[in-house]
Amino acid sequence: MHLKSLTVKGFKSFASATTLRLEPGITCVVGPNGSGKSNVVDAIAWVLGEQGAKALRGGKMEDVIFAGTAGRAPLGRAEVTLTIDNGDGALPIDYTEVSITRRMFRDGASEYEINNNQCRLLDIQELLSDSGIGREMHIIVGQGRLDAMLHAKPEDRRSFIEEAAGVLKHRKRKEKAVRK
Ligand code: ATP
Ligand code: MG
Repeated sequence: MHLKSLTVKGFKSFASATTLRLEPGITCVVGPNGSGKSNVVDAIAWVLGEQGAKALRGGKMEDVIFAGTAGRAPLGRAEVTLTIDNGDGALPIDYTEVSITRRMFRDGASEYEINNNQCRLLDIQELLSDSGIGREMHIIVGQGRLDAMLHAKPEDRRSFIEEAAGVLKHRKRKEKAVRK
């Protein structure tokens, strides 16, 4: 399993649809300051369901939508699609390629899709939960995160271990059932 491509449209500085093709192995994104490198990483976190504006380096969630420039009007929605190569069947779904889409409008409403079929965020979380990718998975190590992990409280460290062991999904299901 590997990330195959990322398409961003109306997300942060990417006003026009832009697709990055990712090959197996290491991909480096290089460019001048402010050219949108970190926005690419933000797009991956966002499409996987990130709900915190701060984690996306914004003040409010709406800040992910292209805000306009001197020569270009603001847009009304942001859309990101992440395509995952599932040739090895690591994801429990009968497709060799899985695309996850998130769309958000200025009123704050988000839509999610798996292979172009509308779904809930929970469906995406469950699909990815044992795969090592997902919003709360530690696939994105930002500046200072390594330090934070080393100094984490025991309960936070516990969820890290639970996630690695693949039991986080079951705990979440239990918590959800108990709430009902
Ligand atoms: P550095 O090398 O300094 O880390 P970077 O390549 O990581 O830079 P980013 O932080 O990804 O750059 O991009 C910052 C740019 O994205 C800024 O120019 C900012 O104005 C622009 N940007 C962020 N959010 C939006 C938005 N909603 N609409 C338009 N542009 C945006
Ligand atoms: Mg950056």
